[in-house]
Amino acid sequence: MKYDVIVVGSGPAGSTAARECALRGLNTLVIEKEKLPRHKPCGGAVSSKALSLLDFKIRNDLVERECYGSRLHYGGYEIEARKPYRIGIFTSRDEFDMYLVEKAIDANAELKDAESVKSLTIGDSSVVVRTDKGTYKASAVIGADGVNSGVANYVRPRYNTNEVALAMETEIPARDEEITERIKDIAEVYFGITNMGYGWVFPKREHFSVGVAGLLSQFKEPKSVFVNFLKKLNFNTDVQFHAHLIPAGGYEREFCSDRIILVGDAAGYVDAFYGEGIQYAIHSGKLAAGVILESYEKGDFSKEELTRYKELCYGAFGENLDCALKFSGQVYKYPDVFIKLFATNKSIIDKWLDVPAGRMNYKEFRRWLLVRTPHYLLKNYISR
Ligand SMILES: Cc1cc2nc3c(=O)[nH]c(=O)nc-3n(C[C@H](O)[C@H](O)[C@H](O)COP(=O)(O)OP(=O)(O)OC[C@H]3O[C@@H](n4cnc5c(N)ncnc54)[C@H](O)[C@@H]3O)c2cc1C
Repeated sequence: MKYDVIVVGSGPAGSTAARECALRGLNTLVIEKEKLPRHKPCGGAVSSKALSLLDFKIRNDLVERECYGSRLHYGGYEIEARKPYRIGIFTSRDEFDMYLVEKAIDANAELKDAESVKSLTIGDSSVVVRTDKGTYKASAVIGADGVNSGVANYVRPRYNTNEVALAMETEIPARDEEITERIKDIAEVYFGITNMGYGWVFPKREHFSVGVAGLLSQFKEPKSVFVNFLKKLNFNTDVQFHAHLIPAGGYEREFCSDRIILVGDAAGYVDAFYGEGIQYAIHSGKLAAGVILESYEKGDFSKEELTRYKELCYGAFGENLDCALKFSGQVYKYPDVFIKLFATNKSIIDKWLDVPAGRMNYKEFRRWLLVRTPHYLLKNYISR
């Protein structure tokens, strides 16, 4: 049987793309290499902007905690800002991702989990997808297979070590009262732990998500950095942890080739400053489905036709990712200037929280900050 579209990978990008394709009447197959629900190393912070992109409400039990603000640490400085409105939620990715997959199945997408895609053969009238269990045919493939995407090998060169962050994450079990007492409903962020990155403590229902991330090319001895971070926070260091890569968005890349579109981490759609990827995974999944449908109607899955997807992504969030990359370059290059500004001026972090809240984009925030930077620098200089 020939499918209209095969989606490789069932993270937020794949499940969203599959749901949108199936809702539009396309015969859609999702192939996921893990048995679902699968573990995904992640802070599990889903921004309000990301949630607003879904065409359904998230089940209440998936919201382990709500997020209303952030406490930022840098050197000896500590600052906290809270919003009167929710800027996101904290969830567990195995359950959150499974819920999105169920939504795709509800829309009529077919799922084959515990099956790994091994190769693609792109032909004139179809693409043949070979897995460790079988062979399938489709008009097009959506590569949603994450940062180590095999589908991306048919589209672009692999990420280099300056384009990805290495993240180490663990779950520290804690009682509800402990979590509430420590951070309750905010994200705790520690700058100065790694080069071009940060450490975090996020509150969940029965544990803290604790992690560190830094640019792969500059992240030396990640295990000892992580253990020292846990020690600094008085957390148990005898824990199981996971290491995983996070791509940085904002780089000029290919996202399509004949019959193939990349979405989510496979496309590198992650905010380079603070590593938010779920929002862009969902958004790119939606846009890819729209473009696949148009190609289906025209009977044309050529790269030229699919390239519209790149323009749509750029219009929707590409400029934001560009700004995040430039911003992270500036901020992490001069931490004693810019991160110190964040850590010593509540109004800056307060303003920045409107970015994940979806009330402001990066460009607006950067402009807002640049105009005020001389004032904040002077203020910090005078108060030394
Ligand atoms: C430690 C860490 C913390 C993070 N914290 C946050 C956060 O708090 N908030 C946020 O917004 N983002 C966070 N991110 C980024 C976020 O996790 C990703 O951007 C997001 O998961 C991307 O979704 P995706 O669907 O593109 O890929 P993924 O969620 O990685 O899904 C890819 C899927 O493809 C499957 N797959 C891979 N290869 C194959 C194959 N050959 N055949 C079939 N299936 C395959 C995988 O098993 C996986 O299920 C974090 C990332 C890390 C590593």
